Amino acid sequence: MSLRNKLIQNFTLAILLSILVFSVSISVFINKTMTSYLINDRNAEFEKIKTEFEEIFWNRGEQEVRARLEQYSKEENVYIEIFNMKNESIAKFEGIDDNLKNQGKFVTKSYSFYSPQTNEYFGYLLIGYMEDSYQTSKQANELRENTVDSILITLLISCFMGFLISVVFSRTISKPILEISKAAESIKDGDYSIDLKDSEINELNELTNNIRFLSKNLEMQEKLRIQYAQDISHELRTPLTNLGLHLEAMKDGIIDADDDTINILLGEVRRLNGLVDNLKKTFDDNSEFVKFHKEKFNLSKLLNTINESLSPRLINNNIKLTTDIKDDVIINSDSDKITQIMYNLITNAIKAIGKDGNINITLKEDKKNIYIDVKDDGVGIEKEKIPYIFDRFYRIDDARNTKTNGHGLGLSITKTFTEALDGRIKVKSKLGSGSTFSLIFQK
Ligand code: ADP
Repeated sequence: MSLRNKLIQNFTLAILLSILVFSVSISVFINKTMTSYLINDRNAEFEKIKTEFEEIFWNRGEQEVRARLEQYSKEENVYIEIFNMKNESIAKFEGIDDNLKNQGKFVTKSYSFYSPQTNEYFGYLLIGYMEDSYQTSKQANELRENTVDSILITLLISCFMGFLISVVFSRTISKPILEISKAAESIKDGDYSIDLKDSEINELNELTNNIRFLSKNLEMQEKLRIQYAQDISHELRTPLTNLGLHLEAMKDGIIDADDDTINILLGEVRRLNGLVDNLKKTFDDNSEFVKFHKEKFNLSKLLNTINESLSPRLINNNIKLTTDIKDDVIINSDSDKITQIMYNLITNAIKAIGKDGNINITLKEDKKNIYIDVKDDGVGIEKEKIPYIFDRFYRIDDARNTKTNGHGLGLSITKTFTEALDGRIKVKSKLGSGSTFSLIFQK
């Protein structure tokens, strides 16, 4: 059964059950209220008869009273007997069917009556009736029918509304789950371009965010592996060409196989070995390089530790490091990757300065973002070259770069990591004045 149908089934069942419980309690309540209303009504009716009896008796005489009581006793199925002050029966009207008498409890009520002039006791009226006669009265039947009708209509409307609400509610819950499941399916098939919307339900939102992160992470892993494999094969070509050229020249007798040449060849072989090791690491499933582990940590402390660990290099190059790091900035990110990003930016700044200069590192935050700036007063970057510095293998081809042994990969990796951690990297630079690399991470 699909998740949506299962949810509809369960919600509808829960709503029906609640409606049932509600209806039963309402029926019990209505029944009680109705019974007491009908009993009161019956008593009021008897009171009315007694008053009417007195009025006719004193004003119009016994004959009319008899006629009226006879009519009433038949209409209302009651037994009426009139007693004088000596307790002698003067008249009786048997309005109750004999059949009815055998069916329930027969009860009586007496109503004394007095002379209107002297107010002296004159006798009493005995009204006998079946105790549960209120249940079979015309009013009771009408009331019962109306109540049953309205309960039935309310039940039908509530069931229909309940079903509609179940359908809508189940959709709200099942839709994002189905979307997440589809997204997971496409991630499984290697398609990382998932588009998941935020849900109103916190737990689902968390799941959506995790799936987004997982997808980005996997995409990044794949991208990095491919990039790395390409990088390494590119790097392999140079020592192989060198080796080939040297061996051919030796074969042709152009160069001698002396110690110097052999050392050059051995150097190239060592370089090849190193590159092959790197390649192996890249394809190793446990390679930490392409894995991301997000957790909350104190970014201020991490930046201070990184700065301290770089201080020998800074002292050696006579570089002054100033910082403006806000205390206890907490970030939900990957501390290893942030460390690598910061090392790349600071070592680039050191390389750009060479000797004697200043680096300034700032850490700030607002409600939405965390900002890190790495500023140096090194050589700076030419305006036209700025757009390319994040490209792989891009190195600014000048005298200083031949001395620094980079591969033009540092900033490309830095950018890839920053974006994988939901961040952005920007650069402002002026040739001859220095550069500022800015990182912005969402909170
Ligand atoms: P590498 O690993 O070779 O340093 P990067 O990708 O880190 O390569 O940097 C690319 C190029 O950008 C470098 O060749 C360098 O010239 C330039 N660059 C990077 N950072 C700075 C900086 N802070 N100041 C000046 N130039 C920089």
